[in-house]
Amino acid sequence: MEGLLKGLRREARRLGIRQVGVTTPEPSKHMGFLREWTARGFHGEMGYLARPDATGRRADLRATMPDVRSVVVVAQEYFQDDPPGVPEDPARGVVARYARGVDYHKVLKTRLQDLLAWLRREARERGLAPDVQGLAYVDTGPILERELGRRGGLGWLGKNTMLIHPRHGSYSFLGILLLDLPLPVDLPFEADRCGSCRACLDACPTGALLGRDGSGAPVMDARRCISYLTMELKGPLPRDLRPLMGNRIFGCDICQEVCPFNMKFAREGEEPAYRARAISGDGPLLTELLGLTEDQFRERFSGSPIKRAKRRGLLRNVAVALGNWGSREAVPALMEALEDLEPLVRGHAAWALGEVLARLGIPGDAGFMAAEALLARLELEEDPWVREELELALRG
Ligand code: SF4
Ligand code: SF4
Repeated sequence: MEGLLKGLRREARRLGIRQVGVTTPEPSKHMGFLREWTARGFHGEMGYLARPDATGRRADLRATMPDVRSVVVVAQEYFQDDPPGVPEDPARGVVARYARGVDYHKVLKTRLQDLLAWLRREARERGLAPDVQGLAYVDTGPILERELGRRGGLGWLGKNTMLIHPRHGSYSFLGILLLDLPLPVDLPFEADRCGSCRACLDACPTGALLGRDGSGAPVMDARRCISYLTMELKGPLPRDLRPLMGNRIFGCDICQEVCPFNMKFAREGEEPAYRARAISGDGPLLTELLGLTEDQFRERFSGSPIKRAKRRGLLRNVAVALGNWGSREAVPALMEALEDLEPLVRGHAAWALGEVLARLGIPGDAGFMAAEALLARLELEEDPWVREELELALRG
């Protein structure tokens, strides 16, 4: 089996995956933490995390694959530098690194399936198993990927809740292979290398990171996390958090950017599919994005993780970023968005115009135009929530 495992690591390397760990499928010891976390409501609208059937499968992999004998965890790195001028330019939107290229779910799943096919062939040829059975998961099943990664020796869970490899950092996608073949396992990563560092806690703009609990597990209030807000939350963004989101329109990397292990070790990922694409990863102009029609949205974000936010979700985030910019240059695009078919977009455009108004004041062309547009919309608006946003914006 040792020879097979060495070959598996070589094959993974050939497929662009540098980190491979193997662990047992024993039940998780962290379900108490997860139950407490969801009981406190920290998961927000991500109801699937609290569903009893999914919790049971998360707790014990045998509920997903009864004859699982070992778990292969792979981590594929995706770091890339920010485009020049981003995120400093408030007129441009920042997209989290993981979402700047092609959707990793498809890319890594294909690699995992290739790895499984190789393993099946090799195990048969070496006379170890006639037909290895396996299941591949990339963030789609009820699986505690980070915990399995720690158990497979790929790093520890940092105070930013990410799995951090001591020599590669945390910008990695995780993939899981459940196998009915008992492979030799790696030693779990037991140390907490964060030590007294709290850079991520101090840098998080919304105070979503709460440090470690009594058991040592890192705690995040997902309801305050910009990643959750920009991708998972479907309705209006909480008003108190909007000003803290800056120009982050899809995801957030801040707590990874400040981590010393990423500063020292993060290197450009090898997978070309993850590299930034025009409009999603190159710091797109916010005013341009706010004008996207449904068809243009679909075309530009086809194959991108951003598609998941849907047009209305992305434009909601973009409107907030424009409000945070607060420039007169944002006013024409926001005025147009006040007429959008989606109440979610109209309401956030109203908030953003209110921010511009508060910054510029009514005297002056842009402030006057913003106030006029808000008043005109208020006369026509029928949606109660949008009306409330319009009134608040006008009140300043
Ligand atoms: S992703 Fe951003 S908002 Fe979320 S915890 Fe990290 S720094 Fe905070
Ligand atoms: S920034 Fe510091 S505390 Fe946060 S995860 Fe990295 S090492 Fe740990």
